[in-house]
Amino acid sequence: MTSSLATVAYIGATILFILSLGGLSNPETARRGNLFGMVGMTIAVLATVLGPRVTAAGVPYIVGALVVGGSIGLFAAKKVQMTQMPELVALMHSLVGLAACLVGFASYVDTSTVFATPAEKAIHEVEIYIGILIGAVTFSGSIVAFGKLSGRIGGKPLLLPGRHWLNLAGLLVVIWFGREFLNAHDIASGMTPLLVMTVVALLFGVHMVMAIGGADMPVVVSMLNSYSGWAAAATGFMLSNDLLIVVGALVGSSGAILSYIMCRAMNRNFISVIAGGFGGGAPAPKAAGGAAEPQGEVSPISAAETAELLRESKSVIIVPGYGMAVAQAQHTVFEITKLLREKGVNVRFGIHPVAGRMPGHMNVLLAEAKVPYDIVLEMDEINEDFPDTDVTMVIGANDIVNPAAQDDPGSPIAGMPVLEVWKARTSIVMKRSMASGYAGVDNPLFYKDNNRMLFGDAKKMLDEVLGALKA
Ligand code: NDP
Repeated sequence: MTSSLATVAYIGATILFILSLGGLSNPETARRGNLFGMVGMTIAVLATVLGPRVTAAGVPYIVGALVVGGSIGLFAAKKVQMTQMPELVALMHSLVGLAACLVGFASYVDTSTVFATPAEKAIHEVEIYIGILIGAVTFSGSIVAFGKLSGRIGGKPLLLPGRHWLNLAGLLVVIWFGREFLNAHDIASGMTPLLVMTVVALLFGVHMVMAIGGADMPVVVSMLNSYSGWAAAATGFMLSNDLLIVVGALVGSSGAILSYIMCRAMNRNFISVIAGGFGGGAPAPKAAGGAAEPQGEVSPISAAETAELLRESKSVIIVPGYGMAVAQAQHTVFEITKLLREKGVNVRFGIHPVAGRMPGHMNVLLAEAKVPYDIVLEMDEINEDFPDTDVTMVIGANDIVNPAAQDDPGSPIAGMPVLEVWKARTSIVMKRSMASGYAGVDNPLFYKDNNRMLFGDAKKMLDEVLGALKA
């Protein structure tokens, strides 16, 4: 393939990636968005492998790597449970970071590149240094995020004494060794500062994500998504590959926008989240008189009684959370929705931006179950409607419906906007026990007079509710 044909293919792939991102912004066009992305990636890979920069001798290696990598990807995608998706995404981000590091070291030791001027060489070395830096932070940060999302590492933030000073010291070390690296006369002497910086960056990635508490994890997930984009862009600079730069920048900037949206959804300041310490640790002293301490008795309800309440309702709002994903209850939820709508009940869904374990988690599940998009509403669109609602069904959600976020300034999730399900005439919470959610916080909703608890696995209980509704 000639270089101009490869350039045309890259431009085509870039356009497809932009269309893909546009499509993914809406559930109705998401499938098309994915398709654009797949076609774009196929064109990009083909144009690179068949392009002018790959020699015939290199093709077998690339094909071998494609077969191995593609098989692992296919196997992982087929095997992964829907609930393990966030962990898989975190693991994928870590691979982008690792790739940026490896490409960085490979470009540094590669002596085949001839630089026209010393400035050109310096620019290339800056690209390598920054690329490895971003790649190492992304790699170790994503591995820790994987551990936290899969429950292998606890959700509580690790708050080392003087952690901000530690971060600052790390930054100064990175700058100092950056200077050493650029002043190095040969590869051997440049390798030491490069390795020291890599170790510092790896430690920083671990420290950064370990310091973030449970409820703030969504911001970290989207932030690492953004970092993986910048790591890919850095790889593009190192390899002088325009497509990789553009695609990396697209992923990096869209991830940054997502992080901002997540921060806004949780009423958090981005810098404070990154600095860590939110979402766990010792609760602050409670405000005089205002704190909501869970107390009293919970009132259980049976599946048959739930069905009775639903049948008598005019309006119902369903609030799904992580437990719906665990139980894979979305299809039964759809069956119940269909049945109630046929009976003339106004059924809608309220989706919290951080419900589940990844951005858009609930939307994906509901779309999979074929729930119509027009009855799936964002938190801001539906929150005012709870007082006019007969029944809210909370399915495996906890943190996102916790009134302590509004009432208890000492709560680790204080200030996070929540779905005000308790304002409906009756709220029914479906979960297996009184256990807390991801943030590890008690939920006063369970003890409210108008709340009922339907204990059990969400799928099993909803099947019973469906059976009772049909009876
Ligand atoms: P939560 O984790 O707060 O609560 C989920 C609840 O589901 C649990 O209390 C659990 O209770 C219940 N549950 C688990 N399995 C089942 C089952 N089989 N059947 C019925 N219930 C079940 O989830 P939310 O969606 O309310 O909130 C999301 C939380 O995750 C927030 O804190 C958010 O910050 C965090 N997070 C979100 C991310 C995102 O991008 N969306 C990423 C990372 C974290 P029990 O054990 O008693 O059944």
